[in-house]
Amino acid sequence: MSHMITAHKQMLKTHGLSVTSVRLAVLEALEAHAHADADMIFSTVFEDIATTSKQAIYNNLHTLVEHGLVREIKPKGLSCLYELRVGDNHHHVVCRSCGTVKDTDCVVGAKPCLTPVDTHNFLIDEAEITFWGLCPSCQKNKSK
Ligand SMILES: [Zn+2]
Ligand SMILES: [Zn+2]
Repeated sequence: MSHMITAHKQMLKTHGLSVTSVRLAVLEALEAHAHADADMIFSTVFEDIATTSKQAIYNNLHTLVEHGLVREIKPKGLSCLYELRVGDNHHHVVCRSCGTVKDTDCVVGAKPCLTPVDTHNFLIDEAEITFWGLCPSCQKNKSK
């Protein structure tokens, strides 16, 4: 049994979640592929557990997000993407052309990172920040 699976089992237990083979496989898939969408996670898990369904993957992702083990991001125009890097308020750089997503640390180091000009007396706890641009390979293709 891999060291990672042991860590994932512990993660699930710490959050009061039952340890299932599908949950472990979802965490494993995210370990290998940060910012994967549900389809990609499904096809990865399906290779090991042929009895799983897309609905089961969606349900498990939802539970993992709800319990804070997995972070869900939704850049405009892309599917929801999932990752294991949680709790550090990091942001993302997204390629407008091919949709490649990379992590970039929080600009100021903590939530909400940006202060609005007018809060309307809201208690602001988060600013959703996505940096858009062209990734290196799309820059190259463009200049050809
Ligand atoms: Zn690109
Ligand atoms: Zn990320």
